[in-house]
Amino acid sequence: MTDAAIPVTGRAVERFVEAYLTSLGAKIEKDGRQWSVVLPDDADTDLELDGTVLEIADDPADVEDGAVPIAPESPFVERVLDEAADRTPVGSVSFTSDGVEIRFPPWITDGPTDVEEATFTPYYDRLAVCALFHVGIETVSEYQREELRAVAIDLNDEEERPRLAESYLDLVNDDQRELNEGDRIDEARLKDALDGAHTAVENDVSSVVLETRERATRAADIELDEYRQFVRQRRDELSDEIENLSDRIEEVNETIEAASEQQERVDGLRKRKELQMELDDLRSEHDELSSQIETGFPEKRHEIRERHALTVRIRPVAATAISYERGDLELALQSNSTTFSRTYGYAVGVGVMEDANCERCGKPLTAENPLTITGNRTIGASCCGE
Ligand SMILES: [Zn+2]
Repeated sequence: MTDAAIPVTGRAVERFVEAYLTSLGAKIEKDGRQWSVVLPDDADTDLELDGTVLEIADDPADVEDGAVPIAPESPFVERVLDEAADRTPVGSVSFTSDGVEIRFPPWITDGPTDVEEATFTPYYDRLAVCALFHVGIETVSEYQREELRAVAIDLNDEEERPRLAESYLDLVNDDQRELNEGDRIDEARLKDALDGAHTAVENDVSSVVLETRERATRAADIELDEYRQFVRQRRDELSDEIENLSDRIEEVNETIEAASEQQERVDGLRKRKELQMELDDLRSEHDELSSQIETGFPEKRHEIRERHALTVRIRPVAATAISYERGDLELALQSNSTTFSRTYGYAVGVGVMEDANCERCGKPLTAENPLTITGNRTIGASCCGE
């Protein structure tokens, strides 16, 4: 899971429902954990909320009488997710250096270097789409995983911007912050960006899907194996019972032949008929099981496969056009009692755009190999530092 994925917890669900209702133009009155919602008459929704009390709950069963729970997997939240996936409401925000704090990369902050001053000069605006996807991976039998995953795609180069998606999640989860509205985006560009984002989410979850599929296949194999053993055992038991019953019928036959009185003979014949019927039943069950064993349990196999089949749902439930500023970040730095300055390409919400390398040996600077200075060259503290 990248940082831009959040499990569908109570908090995430609450945020998401609020954002969706707000996108419909709803007025939400909050009283503790209870919300009453008034939708405008022309709201484009099938949700009927007039007079309904929504209540935030950890457990959907645990709300006041008549209240509709907002909880992970509650039917109401499922409906909101479904409707949001059908409509994908689109908002817009603008990230500027006034509203979003400057973010330094770990290869600067995790080492011996201090940032004394930072000046950002924006040169132009870039536009990205950040889409929130509801991802559900489940099998009928047992496995279920749900999460909301944010993906940001830059419209200029169609590249993914994971840190922009993280910044977006941080900011929308920050109660205190009012975000400015940004540029709108046309339908065609939005569609392209959502397609790109969808592919990115598919790639992100592919290893989980693969792993889950393998696990489900193993579970199905084990179940089929247990069933096979059970059928074999039952067939062996039946063979024994058939043999016992045949012996008893043989004994009854002898009794009938040796009978000297009419009544004894009639009783014997009745007994033999009963036992014979029982034997026929056992034989037909035995034959049925033998034929299942020979053909490899096609019906059971199908039923088990169905039960362990994997359903993967990836649906965009919200999209936001993000305008963000790009420019230069000029830093006054201090390390080893030396003050020096460096300038890096920088984007608000994304951070430093370029990779930095040790000026002595060329190794990349990272949290483990952070920036320091020697003479007038910036170097990695691990690769070339003292
Ligand atoms: Zn080096």
